[in-house]
Amino acid sequence: MYSWTVGDITVTSVIEVEGSAPGTFLFDEATPEVVLDRHGWARGSYVDDAGRLLTRVQALVIRSADTTIVVDTCIGNDKERDVPAWNQLQLPFLDRFRAAGFDPLAVDAVVCTHLHVDHVGWNTMLVDGEWRPTFPDSRYLFAGPEYRHWSAEPHCHRPEHDDSIAPVVAAGLVDLVDVDAEVAPGVTLVPTPGHTPGHCSVRLDSDGAAALITGDFMHHPVQVASPEWCSRFDVDRTRSEQTRREFVEAHADDELLLIGTHFGGPCSGRIVTTDDGHVLEPAAT
Ligand SMILES: [Zn+2]
Ligand SMILES: [Zn+2]
Repeated sequence: MYSWTVGDITVTSVIEVEGSAPGTFLFDEATPEVVLDRHGWARGSYVDDAGRLLTRVQALVIRSADTTIVVDTCIGNDKERDVPAWNQLQLPFLDRFRAAGFDPLAVDAVVCTHLHVDHVGWNTMLVDGEWRPTFPDSRYLFAGPEYRHWSAEPHCHRPEHDDSIAPVVAAGLVDLVDVDAEVAPGVTLVPTPGHTPGHCSVRLDSDGAAALITGDFMHHPVQVASPEWCSRFDVDRTRSEQTRREFVEAHADDELLLIGTHFGGPCSGRIVTTDDGHVLEPAAT
């Protein structure tokens, strides 16, 4: 099990799917040859020997004092999706969630870093033919600009809007929050736009330690070294590149622990400067 301690805060990974993927699934540039040549530093940690990228779909569960916060809710079960590997999943995600020591009925807040299909799925689950909130006693926090973008034409017709977003809105569980909102003491949203218009990361500060849960402003550690690599799913590539460049420059060689929502392998690290530029040095979990 992957977990991290940030001062008095803990972060625990609950994995839905993990494995390796061809780099070109995410980045036009990332053929196996280019990945191994340009990103040899990541081989054996975030990249396999065939030049494929290690990736993961996971929820990251924060415990801070008596508060439990779920960051991103993966793909979900029983959902009709265009991506074959994500269609009609029947995975034991909730069993893993409970085995990690968490109770869906005791979650205080669900934070969706953005409203893409692989970040909202377990907002709901199918019960008696209806999409019901998986975390019925929780508040669901969406950044206002993000929700307004995806709930307007033409995006409001996405299946994930109907089965994973609209039901929690209808249940009265959603709070639209600012892109820099405080979620709980030491847990704050940080705007990281570009991948989507209202995309937010989640910053943790406790007892002098700090970490950042990325969401999708970075999909993979190779983007620390190559911030110009834009994901195929970035809505505004110019803005997403700018966000990554500024972030890498700001946090190179500091103590901020980066926890990547889709990073495979060790899933986390710190940005360090080498003769070849910036890389992500894996951190122990
Ligand atoms: Zn995304
Ligand atoms: Zn994603």
